[in-house]
Amino acid sequence: MEKEKRAALISLAAGFIIGGVIFISGYIHQPVVPYLTAIILFILLVLFFIPPHIRKEITDPLPSGRIDERNVMFSRRLLEPGTNRFEEYYKRHPEHKAADDLFRKKPGLLNRCAVYYDPLTFPAADAFFQTVEEMSSGVTGPVAEAQEKISPVRITRFLKDWAEKLGAISSGVAVMQPYHYYHTGGRHYNYGEKIEPPYRFGFVFTVEMDREMINAGPLGPAVMESAHQYLEAGKIAVVISQYLRFLGYDARAHIDAHYQVVCPLVARDAGLGEIGRMGLLMTPRLGPRVRIGVVTTNVELIPDERKEDPSVMDFCLRCKKCALNCPVGAIPEGTPEMIDGVRRWQIKQEACYTYWATVGTDCGRCVAVCPYSHPDNAFHRMVRWGIKRSWLINKLALPLDELFYRKKPVRGQVPEWLRK
Ligand code: SF4
Ligand code: SF4
Repeated sequence: MEKEKRAALISLAAGFIIGGVIFISGYIHQPVVPYLTAIILFILLVLFFIPPHIRKEITDPLPSGRIDERNVMFSRRLLEPGTNRFEEYYKRHPEHKAADDLFRKKPGLLNRCAVYYDPLTFPAADAFFQTVEEMSSGVTGPVAEAQEKISPVRITRFLKDWAEKLGAISSGVAVMQPYHYYHTGGRHYNYGEKIEPPYRFGFVFTVEMDREMINAGPLGPAVMESAHQYLEAGKIAVVISQYLRFLGYDARAHIDAHYQVVCPLVARDAGLGEIGRMGLLMTPRLGPRVRIGVVTTNVELIPDERKEDPSVMDFCLRCKKCALNCPVGAIPEGTPEMIDGVRRWQIKQEACYTYWATVGTDCGRCVAVCPYSHPDNAFHRMVRWGIKRSWLINKLALPLDELFYRKKPVRGQVPEWLRK
């Protein structure tokens, strides 16, 4: 059940109109009617089986460098005025000072004075984040001296099946590359430390974020759900890393606020999706409506291949729905640009984060409106399949999405259980 009133009404109306036409044509004894119907069906069938024209040249090459975590907003927000670290950072990056001064004037994420503060969802999100933080002691740990010998095929299969049992909806293995890692840490525990890429493999998985909760973004349910799935992804990552260390292989879990890797890049290279206009992983089943967990390890695993899917970027080029619905215009509407050797879109992280600090949540409006975020049901699976393979569906998917769900969808309601 999608709980999308407009989409349901339009489907019902379309059903009545098509049914009506078929019914009336049964009474018109004109030989032209069946011929016309047959011709229209034939044309639609041909268009359905013609492959779409997908711009392959826009597929991004591999990144040329590594990201300095100190430049991401989650690190910059930790800088405290008056400290050496603060002074040193803005001396090196004076270009960030004005934008950062702006978000520092706002109440902040999950703050009681934020615009959308509510006493149910904000503290609930805080409780999730706090629990994730408490799990951070399991990110690394001692490794058993004796090593269990398990074949790479068997352990890879086991990790994937187990992750699924624990709640993951997809998983894969990437051969770790230097560009997967930040080059310098930016959090309290590792600020300024060089990150040496120590592990050979990255076991990476995704967990689903509840659609109804995310649709309420930028209100409280969105940040509550987002925090909840950081916890779910974190739990799986910590347990699996602990398990590998018990087997005698070094492993590190990457969980919220304790990442050493850029999760979407690891996930993309393990074949879990492509990177879209908003810079997030676009998965085949749930689009960007996922959280990612990673365990880096030295146990021998069977790596997956990146599954290049230029249809995602091609669709993003036409769609722009996330950009149009972003309350602060943080997502570019134009074509991707070459940034650090990669052809991609780059969101204005300062504008996005300042909005979060104003409303108190992590917004998620872009994720909510994305046509790839629709439920993983038979109909939407068929559409996603068709975007890649059928000219007809490729051309109709966007206009029909805008008809059924609007170009600027009305914000979803707070789920009923939170309104009682
Ligand atoms: S909303 Fe549209 S443009 Fe934005 S990521 Fe989703 S498909 Fe791409
Ligand atoms: S989270 Fe909100 S503010 Fe940030 S890019 Fe998405 S829509 Fe814009």
